[in-house]
Amino acid sequence: PGTIYSIGEALIDFIPNQHNCHLKDVMGFKRVMGGAPANVAVSIAKLGGYSSFISKLGEDAFGDHIVEQLVYYQVEREWLIRTNQANTGLAFVSLNENGERDFSFYRNPSADMLLSPEEVSGLSFQEDDVLHFGSVDLIDAPVKEAHLAVIKQAEIDQALISFDPNVRLPLWDSAEACRSAINQFIPHAHVLKISDEELQFITGMDDEQQALQRLFIGNVQWVVYTRGRKGAVLLTKTGQIVKHSGYQVKPVDTTGAGDAFVGALLYQLQEKMISLKTLNKLSEEQLQRLLAFSNGYAALTTLKNGAVESLPTHAETLAFMANY
Ligand code: ATP
Repeated sequence: PGTIYSIGEALIDFIPNQHNCHLKDVMGFKRVMGGAPANVAVSIAKLGGYSSFISKLGEDAFGDHIVEQLVYYQVEREWLIRTNQANTGLAFVSLNENGERDFSFYRNPSADMLLSPEEVSGLSFQEDDVLHFGSVDLIDAPVKEAHLAVIKQAEIDQALISFDPNVRLPLWDSAEACRSAINQFIPHAHVLKISDEELQFITGMDDEQQALQRLFIGNVQWVVYTRGRKGAVLLTKTGQIVKHSGYQVKPVDTTGAGDAFVGALLYQLQEKMISLKTLNKLSEEQLQRLLAFSNGYAALTTLKNGAVESLPTHAETLAFMANY
């Protein structure tokens, strides 16, 4: 099997010790590794897949912590670069006025944003490799150019490309800048994961079905539409539509559920040797099994606190699904 490369940010998330508390009043935090592409990389490795993380970290204690975590979870670090030009990014998590999760980012700029195209120019792909990316590092910085360079190489090498926008508006000058960057990169993805909270924002369309169809532009072959506790729907360019209603659990913390879902999906593609050539040759039954496992894995991660600490193993996921 090939390697699944994830490119983008690794940050330190500061999770408040107090719940239902405004950020200015929080007295203490727990520090955990975060950043969606880093979480995806760890999910894949935890499941037993070959996972490599492409990023840049500061030469600081937080960068050291992230490296230790990646070593612990057995994520390859050949393309992980350190710099003394900037610090590792930080994100303080809190609840906003509506009781929803909010992020205050400290990256001006953070080390990940300085990853340059030259630093990843030696990377090439096999046809059974996968490249995964998100939207946080598509802001105007060298790292956007680094994304364009590796995506171009993956296209030349005919590796499978996966994109989970994971919209984080506070990082952008305007909502329009975020929407525009996401729409610029969608045509490069073969597998596009969108959550129900993002669909309207990204497409600007109110009608769900029309909005989902509108995402089939450029190279997009699969749209994977996640719907929180209601599970997920997979739509293919060839017209297949497969639904799985998810697993009803009592969540403790849904942080990283979307990343775990993506990790589980990509892990299965790797394990089943599904590449760009065979992506559109799967039966509805096979697609259904992919969705079921991804939903099972993601649902299980919501039962414990944290994004990576809560990730279950392959065997735990199968046992959960069998006993459900
Ligand atoms: P994130 O919070 O990581 O940004 P997301 O918005 O990208 O997540 P969601 O659609 O919220 O994505 O969740 C992804 C998957 O996680 C869902 O398809 C489902 O399998 C699982 N999941 C999320 N929330 C729940 C829940 N409350 N109960 C069961 N499963 C859940």
